[in-house]
Amino acid sequence: MVEWVGVKIVFHEKYKLVYAYDPAAKAGRIESIVEALEGYEFVTPEPAAADDISSVHSQSLIDSVKRSQFVFEMASLAAGGAIMTGELALNEPAFGLIRPPGHHAGRHFNGGFCFFNNMAIAVQKLILEKKIDKALIVDIDLHYGNGTDDILSGRGDIVFLNMVCQGRQDYLSQLQESLALSKGYDIVGVSAGFDTYEKDWGRSLKTEDYHAIGNLIKEAATSCRGRRFALLEGGYYIADLGKNVRSFLEGLE
Ligand SMILES: [Zn+2]
Repeated sequence: MVEWVGVKIVFHEKYKLVYAYDPAAKAGRIESIVEALEGYEFVTPEPAAADDISSVHSQSLIDSVKRSQFVFEMASLAAGGAIMTGELALNEPAFGLIRPPGHHAGRHFNGGFCFFNNMAIAVQKLILEKKIDKALIVDIDLHYGNGTDDILSGRGDIVFLNMVCQGRQDYLSQLQESLALSKGYDIVGVSAGFDTYEKDWGRSLKTEDYHAIGNLIKEAATSCRGRRFALLEGGYYIADLGKNVRSFLEGLE
């Protein structure tokens, strides 16, 4: 297995723009993570193409997002960041420091601060381009990744693990067990929400737990040539968000 050092960060300055009145779009949220990731290599993505978005969403959902050109541009840029992150992960670990988040966006619906499903778009593109056959998606956000489930579950080429937190210790051992039971995938993608943090809405996980989670994902990826990536989803306790993202990435790298 190839050993890589560091995780490449996919980021666009426009992710700092405030495009909505929701906690994911809050001013200062993205800046807090950028600040904590000093020393990492950043690369800049392009917006997703129309075909990439329509590979997982219905035209009526896309049209509803287009009612605001600004939101549509931001959601397309986040999806483009996700695509770039997934493609980088074929050769090196990568993190999409993107927003708006995506895991609550299904084929025909969206909500929960999400517009397009970044993870589904990224994984679908890798599969359609035959760069991978099968993906393992792990959702560690506090909330159920209903959009990802809607789009990707029930397919033979996707294993979707949605983690539910019922206490710290349990969480890590459950994740470890679930990962051990998952087999035959070519890449691991993490929907990385940080809202299960002890000072965030979920009131559970500590900063070092994110390091442990990152490490478990890295271990799981040894069975797929180290191919692993993560995309930012939730996480609203801005004072510690950057610290938690960094802890996760230090475990993942
Ligand atoms: Zn969440």
